Amino acid sequence: MTASRILFLVIDGLADRPCPELDNLTPLEAASHPVLDSLAQNGVTGIMDPIAPGVRPGSDTAHLALLGYDPKTCYTGRGPLECEGTGIRMEPGMIGFRCNYATISPDGLVTDRRAGRVRDTAALSQAVQDGVDLAKFGIGFVFRSGAGHRAALAFKGDSLGHCVSSNDPKQDGVPPSAISPLGDNTPDKKTAFACNEFIRQSAEILADHPLNRERERQGLCPANIVFLRGAGEMGRLEPFGKKYGLDGSVIAAASLIAGIGSAVGLERVPVEGITGSQDSNIRGKIAAAIRELSHRDFVLVNIKGADESGHDGNAREKKAFVEKVDRELAPLPGLKDTLIVVCADHSTPCSIRDHSADPVPVIVHGDGVRTDAVNEYGERACARGGLGRIRGADLLPIARDLINRAHKYGA
Ligand code: ZN
Ligand code: ZN
Repeated sequence: MTASRILFLVIDGLADRPCPELDNLTPLEAASHPVLDSLAQNGVTGIMDPIAPGVRPGSDTAHLALLGYDPKTCYTGRGPLECEGTGIRMEPGMIGFRCNYATISPDGLVTDRRAGRVRDTAALSQAVQDGVDLAKFGIGFVFRSGAGHRAALAFKGDSLGHCVSSNDPKQDGVPPSAISPLGDNTPDKKTAFACNEFIRQSAEILADHPLNRERERQGLCPANIVFLRGAGEMGRLEPFGKKYGLDGSVIAAASLIAGIGSAVGLERVPVEGITGSQDSNIRGKIAAAIRELSHRDFVLVNIKGADESGHDGNAREKKAFVEKVDRELAPLPGLKDTLIVVCADHSTPCSIRDHSADPVPVIVHGDGVRTDAVNEYGERACARGGLGRIRGADLLPIARDLINRAHKYGA
């Protein structure tokens, strides 16, 4: 018997380095996680360089690599993927930005880079969409609100470049920066001009918008300027279904990860109460994944939270979060006909409070896998596993072979 479908579980930023406050164990090693251990014991384990040894991955480039898309050829910036995550359909060649609403004072100085963490900006974004005109540049655009103070902007037009700076000055009390081209290319200059024009026109619209007038009356920061960051050109991504012959869905709160999924053609599945943080509805995600598996070959689930603790340098919190995740994974070992892959997208060591290039532990569990002697899920335990040390790009081909959907290479 072989399994016929794949549950691909990515625990974001899970892996770590030995932490002195945990007796030199990693948070994963120090945590109690009987479900993950049982998957490791009955599966095959290994360690994985998400992109390549020594390369520190972002969550975006790591997820692309795990799905088999080489970030070196298809990734120029986070913007286009954030656009996909907010529901903008990106076509190859379009330029995408991640944006946020911010506040400037009447004399033009930035006073709050998150506009008082404004929520529900849909009406503001619609007004900008309807009112800004970039026709003189030959550019069409889509501007959409994301979660909280976030938004996304996509440009469509001929000869546009993506090598431009941001207008976010990264501090309060100074005016926003002008967006400038990073080199001497005409397409980058054109994009920079259009960005500055977009910012100017949208600021005029936002200054007069009733929602902002109301916020000012209530003593709240008006969302009266848009910051543009992370410019990138949408690459050409072969649809996942065509690449692997598998149809699939993605379950992720983070718009970046959901955007990567939808950019490669995975169906995005909404789940109530998912936050991309430690209070997320993990149980709901797992339940939704199990429902999806009844009619999908492949389901990608991203669980955020461990990454946050790593960035905060909080090893004990990270350990407690791993234990919480493990409790919610209780249905997994009993899943029939399913190959379960568990991994992280990168390490986020508490000691450095950022992503590192340390390899991450992997489990592949399901009918037919050649189990190894490893009976726990941990960075050092999995280094002794039967998968050895692989790269992110190897993982899906291995999983696809185990569900009998790989094609013979040669005769
Ligand atoms: Zn990540
Ligand atoms: Zn991170």
